Amino acid sequence: MEQCNMPKCQRCHVGDLLPLSDFGSQGASIMYKAWVCTNPECGYNIKIRNGDIYINEPIMNGANNSRSRQNIAN
Ligand SMILES: [Zn+2]
Repeated sequence: MEQCNMPKCQRCHVGDLLPLSDFGSQGASIMYKAWVCTNPECGYNIKIRNGDIYINEPIMNGANNSRSRQNIAN
């Protein structure tokens, strides 16, 4: 099976950066919205939201953050 070459994480040089996609409010897919290091001890991530780039935001546990995410959206 052929594997795509993912860019190496420039922080830990161990993990690869994995592109993640999301869905917008209209249900349209947003390709490669975020890139996350596959090394759990590194956790480096970069994402784009409303045209702004966010680097190394804390990774959210979605189950516990529904309230704070609403605050951000408003
Ligand atoms: Zn890394």
